[in-house]
Amino acid sequence: MAVIDRQSAGVPIAGGKLPEILLPTNCPGCGVGLDREGLRAQNYVCDCGHHFRLGADVWIPIIADEGSFQERWSGIRSHDLLTWTVPKRYEEVVDELLSEGLNESVRTGTCTLNGKPIWLAAFDFGFVGGTLSIVAGERLARGMEQAASSGLPYVLVCASGGARMQEGLPPGFQSADFQLSHGQVDLVSPRTELRPLLAHLLELYSAPKRDQDRTC
Ligand SMILES: [Zn+2]
Repeated sequence: MAVIDRQSAGVPIAGGKLPEILLPTNCPGCGVGLDREGLRAQNYVCDCGHHFRLGADVWIPIIADEGSFQERWSGIRSHDLLTWTVPKRYEEVVDELLSEGLNESVRTGTCTLNGKPIWLAAFDFGFVGGTLSIVAGERLARGMEQAASSGLPYVLVCASGGARMQEGLPPGFQSADFQLSHGQVDLVSPRTELRPLLAHLLELYSAPKRDQDRTC
């Protein structure tokens, strides 16, 4: 899909190396043994097109200019309002995940993308399937409010368990192809082209309208 023109395709990738992630020995898509360094340099997309699942810690440096991300509200914590105990105490589950280095299912903050300031939020599927919690909702809402009041773009990397498939939803309901063909998303882009595409769209939407530039 020729959405990215030559000018925007010149946007540099985020800069520094992405964090390492746990990888299998062979690619689930093509079966070939993985070149870990090569894969990391390609935003964890195999040559066959297989996209490996990423957490917020990798998504943020994929989109943000190197060193520009300023995290906000990282200290907000969940409360066990329902004293949930199945399969074990909810607070125990959250504490274990926090101790593994994850910081809730959503992280948010400000950064620049190709020099333009934006608000950025990224889900982490590794934190209870990216489920919405009090913390996630609070971080999302606060970021959106700040973006709206300051007039900055808001970019959200969504990776949540979403709808319960046990309730008889159509096959492939949550796949990119299904959503694109049913008009639920406007565009599906390979991860390797995502950053220049976002920079291009931000440039388009931030361009002054011609009518506003005219003088009467
Ligand atoms: Zn592959």
